[in-house]
Amino acid sequence: MRIAVFSTKGFDKRYFEEFNPQYNHELVFFEAPLNLNTVNLSAGFEGICVFVNDVLDKEVVNELAKNGVKIIALRCAGFNNVDIQAATGKNITVVRVPSYSPQAVAEHALALIMTLNRKTHKAYNRVRDGNFALDGLLGFDMYGKKVGVIGTGHIGSIFCRIMAGLGCEVLAYDKFPNQDLGLTYVSLDELYTSSDIISLHCPLLPETNHLINEMSLAQMKDGVMIINTSRGALIDSKAVIKGLKSKKVGYLGIDVYEQESDLFFQDLSESIIEDDQIMRLLTFPNVIVTSHQGFFTKEALEEITKTTFENITAFEKGETLVNQVK
Ligand code: NAD
Repeated sequence: MRIAVFSTKGFDKRYFEEFNPQYNHELVFFEAPLNLNTVNLSAGFEGICVFVNDVLDKEVVNELAKNGVKIIALRCAGFNNVDIQAATGKNITVVRVPSYSPQAVAEHALALIMTLNRKTHKAYNRVRDGNFALDGLLGFDMYGKKVGVIGTGHIGSIFCRIMAGLGCEVLAYDKFPNQDLGLTYVSLDELYTSSDIISLHCPLLPETNHLINEMSLAQMKDGVMIINTSRGALIDSKAVIKGLKSKKVGYLGIDVYEQESDLFFQDLSESIIEDDQIMRLLTFPNVIVTSHQGFFTKEALEEITKTTFENITAFEKGETLVNQVK
């Protein structure tokens, strides 16, 4: 199939070109993200391949339909950036990669926690500067800490196991608890009031938008650590900034950010960044921001590439689509 690949980075191209000979699609790579300004690039393609920050709202989907696009292949798990109803209405099939390396994201959540806790990023710079002092690097034992995990699906369940392996007491909350996991499920209220660390692993839905807000923050322990590797808008950034200023939030580690689509995956080091919220967040010594790199391991990229091609090939052959989003 002739496929337009949007938001292409060097690593996408490398993996897609490496695996394509097994599938034989005709790939055209665009560095530009897909949005209303760029949707015309989709003309003449039966398929398009997009990533987390491409915008596929109703207007864009309508234009895709006019251009003859028949399949939207998401090379990610989340599909909150696609108007599924609009796509269905236009008879465009949407497929995704539901699970590629849940370990990669769960392990990145651990990396954020351990960096915030043991301050290895500061130690690295200090020691290289000949400063071998320990002041300011004080951490805490993970052993025995209560870790609240919201969402115990692919990633959350692995994260729970990792935390249990460190000797933490895991408190889980899920709208649909999975009793097979042997976890201690508690109410959201209990999770908020009891946890030393809270890690978000649920999807972004209207009901989870700004799950972490002024009210939920008020319930939490003073000095709580909050980790978000799921979707930015699970956290109300304004409320969390207030929480950091009042010291209610003792540590914040985020791999995703509400307004990340204007920032992440780009080198803006020579630009004036207009987003005052992210700039404020970056001033706190107890905040770590990574730019949506949780998925970014070679195992995950291989799986993403293969599943994306398999999804498209199955569509082309009229086979059952196991990864269709409806
Ligand atoms: P999943 O669907 O396997 O698990 C999500 C869990 O959340 C499910 O158990 C579900 O029952 C639960 N859930 C649904 N609604 C809920 C609610 N209202 N409250 C609490 N729990 C609820 O998803 P996953 O693969 O584990 O992914 C989790 C998140 O991680 C997604 O938001 C995904 O977009 C994100 N993600 C981030 C990266 C990254 O690079 N940072 C990579 C992949 C996925």
